[in-house]
Amino acid sequence: MGQSRPKLRAKKRIALVAHDNKKKDLLEWVRFNRQTLQQHELMATGTTGRLVQEEVGLSVERFMSGPLGGDQQIGARIAEGGIDVMVFFWDPPQAQPHDPDVKALLRIAVVWNLPIACNRATADFLISSPLLSEPYERQQTTYEEYLSRDV
Ligand code: PGA
Repeated sequence: MGQSRPKLRAKKRIALVAHDNKKKDLLEWVRFNRQTLQQHELMATGTTGRLVQEEVGLSVERFMSGPLGGDQQIGARIAEGGIDVMVFFWDPPQAQPHDPDVKALLRIAVVWNLPIACNRATADFLISSPLLSEPYERQQTTYEEYLSRDV
């Protein structure tokens, strides 16, 4: 497989998503890290984004609510190279009506080698990484063989 190294700017495009039982947790985390997060570009699924705007006062590009297509919109943005980091507090004990979308979002984030935090401890490690505020060359599989395969 070929590799490319897309350059991520110092200012990162960060996607925030939280399932309902994890929204309080995410809001606390966002509030605690407000100073750092406001130096970056934030986007979020609809309800998560609204809460971050209303309760923490950060500006956020909002997609649809997750179960109405927001997870898929974020996945599409990742595939287009428009997101650098994802913080996705999903809720393992709770069955989600949009479970296929959740799985698809996590899958596409791994396909494109995105840094993803699915719980608070990982989010703490991610946000305190010096790489968050520096340019970074993300190693990227180009999938050339797959794209040019005989079918
Ligand atoms: P929401 O979506 O922010 O609109 O609640 C989150 C999710 O993907 O379930």
